Amino acid sequence: MRIIADTGRCIGAGMCVLALGEVFDQSEDDGTVVLLDAEPPASMAGAVRRAVQLCPSGALSIAETSGGDQDAAGGVKGNGD
Ligand code: SF4
Repeated sequence: MRIIADTGRCIGAGMCVLALGEVFDQSEDDGTVVLLDAEPPASMAGAVRRAVQLCPSGALSIAETSGGDQDAAGGVKGNGD
């Protein structure tokens, strides 16, 4: 997953930071959101979604990266012919 933060909409409420300080921080200049980890691991997906839902301004959204949140285990074996 990838987090998208629209700092133009962010009102600096800090809910995301309170919810998940490993991923979200606030700018010291204007208090708007700063992403510490825009592509957090799948293990954090639930916490990230909760933090995004808490945002009162709708500044945060999630883009699922292709293939979903599962780790690419093993890779693809070529079937070279
Ligand atoms: S919760 Fe939303 S409005 Fe508040 S700091 Fe985070 S992104 Fe900005």
